[in-house]
Amino acid sequence: MAQLQRIAIAPSQFQQDQILLSPQQLHYLGRVLRLREGDHFIAMDGMGKWWLVQLAGEQAQVLELLSVETELPVTITLMVALPKGNGFDEVVRCCTEIGVTCIAPVISDRTLLNPSPQKLERWRRIAAEAAEQSERAFVPTILEPVAFMSINGQESMVNGQKYICEARGNFPHLKDCLPTKEQMTNDQELIIATGPEGGWTEQEIENAIASGFQPVSLGRRILRAVTAPIVALTLVTAACEV
Ligand code: SAM
Repeated sequence: MAQLQRIAIAPSQFQQDQILLSPQQLHYLGRVLRLREGDHFIAMDGMGKWWLVQLAGEQAQVLELLSVETELPVTITLMVALPKGNGFDEVVRCCTEIGVTCIAPVISDRTLLNPSPQKLERWRRIAAEAAEQSERAFVPTILEPVAFMSINGQESMVNGQKYICEARGNFPHLKDCLPTKEQMTNDQELIIATGPEGGWTEQEIENAIASGFQPVSLGRRILRAVTAPIVALTLVTAACEV
């Protein structure tokens, strides 16, 4: 099973036991992966389901529902202040591989990047590719960029444990603040925020604390804005995976 190629499909492409493939997917399967009529591959709906399917003309015939065990036992939302240049591409790719559930690109007071609308599409494509590559059952959700200040206090963000990573100050290490394996429940939700190159402003930290975020350290070194979310997520996987 490991060597079968995987592609992400939208739930709307399903029609009973058939998957209607888009011209781009047909091109990818035929020209890039060199699959031929009758070849098998895996279709992932990005919502936790995988199917073994067979290429049949412009469709894929569903053969069997597969069971997957590659997801982390917790829901992790990363709120990442957009780094300069194409740094966010790397954040999306690596964090998808490690197991993030949702990435919220945020614009903070010191964010230097103003992303174009095409960026979101690009990040979602990168997430889908990385999910396929890392054999994830889910393609993480990449939200539209929003102002960090506007997120704080929103209803959808108030559940779960929330941490804001701060490079300076005498804060406890994230690894010492995470729930233990025994404490983690199946619907456990963790939200972790990391700042931009210039760091969070004092006001942002204060507002986040007022909204229930716990300030945490990721160690004694100053990590790049791209490295910090990857390290934070890695600590979570170490804490929750058996
Ligand atoms: N310019 C800031 C300074 O000198 O304090 C550093 C910002 S750092 C490059 C970017 C972001 O990564 C920070 O806002 C923080 O969220 C996170 N970060 C980097 N190193 C960290 C550490 N050791 N502990 C916690 N967070 C860290």
